[in-house]
Amino acid sequence: MFPKIDGERLWASIQDLAKVGAYTDSVSGLVGVNRLALTDADRDGRRLVRGWFEAAGLEVRVDRIGNTYGVRRGRRRDLARIMAGSHIDSVPTGGAFDGCLGVLGALEVVRTLNDAGLSTDRDLEIGFFTDEEGARFGTDMLGSATACGRLPIETAYGLADKDGTTVKGELERIGFLGPAPERVTPPAAYVECHVEQGPILATRGRDLGAVVGVQAISWYELTLEGKSAHAGTTPMGLRKDAGLVASRINVELHRMATSGVYGAEMRATMGRFDPVPDRVNIVPGRVICTVDLRNPDDAAMARAEADLFGFLKALAAETGVAITWRQTAQTHSVKFSEVVLSVITARMEAHGLSYERILSGAGHDAQEFAAICPTAMIFVPGLYDGISHNPREYSTPEACARGVQILCETMLELSKT
Ligand SMILES: [Zn+2]
Repeated sequence: MFPKIDGERLWASIQDLAKVGAYTDSVSGLVGVNRLALTDADRDGRRLVRGWFEAAGLEVRVDRIGNTYGVRRGRRRDLARIMAGSHIDSVPTGGAFDGCLGVLGALEVVRTLNDAGLSTDRDLEIGFFTDEEGARFGTDMLGSATACGRLPIETAYGLADKDGTTVKGELERIGFLGPAPERVTPPAAYVECHVEQGPILATRGRDLGAVVGVQAISWYELTLEGKSAHAGTTPMGLRKDAGLVASRINVELHRMATSGVYGAEMRATMGRFDPVPDRVNIVPGRVICTVDLRNPDDAAMARAEADLFGFLKALAAETGVAITWRQTAQTHSVKFSEVVLSVITARMEAHGLSYERILSGAGHDAQEFAAICPTAMIFVPGLYDGISHNPREYSTPEACARGVQILCETMLELSKT
């Protein structure tokens, strides 16, 4: 009843795209992918995939923020379309699968329907979105956020990388500043297949994940101002040790995240810790450090933030180390559509696959679409604890084919009227 996707063709496309921007990691010796958004490598990857869209007979358009879409016409032009997509840009030290699986998986769906001579009631639209990673211009989901209306295009155009080069200038330079309007008409549904980028599915021995939503993310940069002092001559009681204060904050973050007070799924990380002057025998006078908070529940996130601020104020008063902070990123939690999820899980069950309803720990283009239409995602497990944003990122050909088969069947089910 459903056509079978060609897992080998899918795998070959993933490997062919991974050659664009390929580099050899100097530490591991592994080959990774560097297609930072709107660089020459990204341009070459875009050209390759756009060419594949055209070869598959899709009506291709590039919009004003460089998002690239291909439409496969259905029988009923009056009905809203079914959409699938993801991104092909990467972090500077990326792998072959992040984003690409979703784009090339959607392309494989189209190729499969073409081979089978199958038409659908609704139009099917596939696409890739500009700068999902945010690794160059500092704002992730740039293209999909613009398409779905969260980010005004003038704001997106004006973003600059560390050399002052702007999004708009780079879109023009690489030939992907398209004429099509950037705001999309809401589709009937949006589905995205993506690698999990985490260890949960593999650890629990699941074939696939049905993604129920994306957790809220909040980032802060903290500046701790104490007093530099000689490590040998300054008695412990007379110090204003910014390093010690940073450590106490980190311990408090761990306590909060494991306390259960903010739900079982709170995560807290101090990923950056820069002491000044950064010397073995000097009490750090200043520390710049960061806090990354995650929570599936917006209210619990807000409580955790308020409690953290209270802790920081009390700690500053106690230690005499001044603590200031600024928020550097914030996204709210997103809940995906149970209607789309029910289609996804029904198809997984029909194949006898083991799956897990799972919350995404990372941000994805799908969360932008969730604001304008029924949306859900399919996760494919990765090896090596699901490591991602790393040349070791790897999902097996079988796992990729499984995910894309479910993507195909989900799109066909949703396209029925
Ligand atoms: Zn991604």
